[in-house]
Amino acid sequence: MKLLILYTGGTIGMVAQRDGSLVPFHSDALRANVPDLARLAAEVDCRSLGQPKDSSHVGPDDWRAMADALWAARDEFDGFVVLHGTDTMAYSASALSFMLGGSFGKPVVLTGSQVPLGVLRSDGRDNLLTSLEIAMLRDAQGGPQVREVTVFFENRLFRGNRVYKHSARQFDAFHSPNYPELGRSGVELVLHRKRLWQPDLGEGRRTALNANVAVATLTPGMTEASLRAMLLGSGAHGVILQTLGSGNAPAWPWLAAVLTEAGAQGVRLAHVSQCRAASTAPSNYASGKVIQDAGVWESGGMTLEAAVVKMMLVLALEPGMQHAAWAASWAGERD
Ligand code: ASP
Repeated sequence: MKLLILYTGGTIGMVAQRDGSLVPFHSDALRANVPDLARLAAEVDCRSLGQPKDSSHVGPDDWRAMADALWAARDEFDGFVVLHGTDTMAYSASALSFMLGGSFGKPVVLTGSQVPLGVLRSDGRDNLLTSLEIAMLRDAQGGPQVREVTVFFENRLFRGNRVYKHSARQFDAFHSPNYPELGRSGVELVLHRKRLWQPDLGEGRRTALNANVAVATLTPGMTEASLRAMLLGSGAHGVILQTLGSGNAPAWPWLAAVLTEAGAQGVRLAHVSQCRAASTAPSNYASGKVIQDAGVWESGGMTLEAAVVKMMLVLALEPGMQHAAWAASWAGERD
């Protein structure tokens, strides 16, 4: 069995210099920092994706580079672990889940750490080794058990496009409130098979995206001028509105007109809830009706991160195909 670690940067890849300052290590230093890699019953290769980056600096070009690197190595390896900073891991995991498409069909586990590998108390060692073990899991026919893009952090495996970074302090950095964990590592490594995504192996890659997407949060007291500026004056081609509760909006008399005007000017609008544990399926409340009536796209239980990335990919499609593409589930990212 052959596994590839794709190292992109983040806290996990930091080691202390003599003076105590932390610097990113080169991928060659991984074996020195995690000698237990040699004990895995797999051949492990480690490749860097350019200069290691703080994930705050990771964006659409990096997602493309990661997806290309994974596709280029797909036939050579049985499973993949991507070492990534936590700050934007949820965006990259969403992007990879959509961009690789169902035909990738092999385990991809993103992980990182809250404390650098070069520090004694690091959570990175366990996160890395368990992620590799997850990528090694086979079914009775010898095929991979996990055939989707996942995030493993502090004992729990999640669908990658369902997580958000919840804590910058605790080891359990990620939560997935709208989809249950796919697995857990305790005394045993347990996967919940029925929760795993069964990819359509005929579904191709997605490469084109239009990154001109903005996010507008509806907050009490917001002025018409502010919302207009975001929806109509920002030049954004797509906007994700963060609505309240299960998809509600304040009773602003001007809201319907602003939404309709943006739609008429070709700005694509979708909404997710400001509540992390929520779904924006058609609202039962009168205060949600204005959003529905303006034709703002529903997101089900999608995360903000998945919605932003999906909007970028949808905007690259022919206008007539965009709504149907948004409404379809691409990688189990919505209910
Ligand atoms: N700023 C770091 C990053 O996202 C934080 C981390 O890795 O935990 O790259």
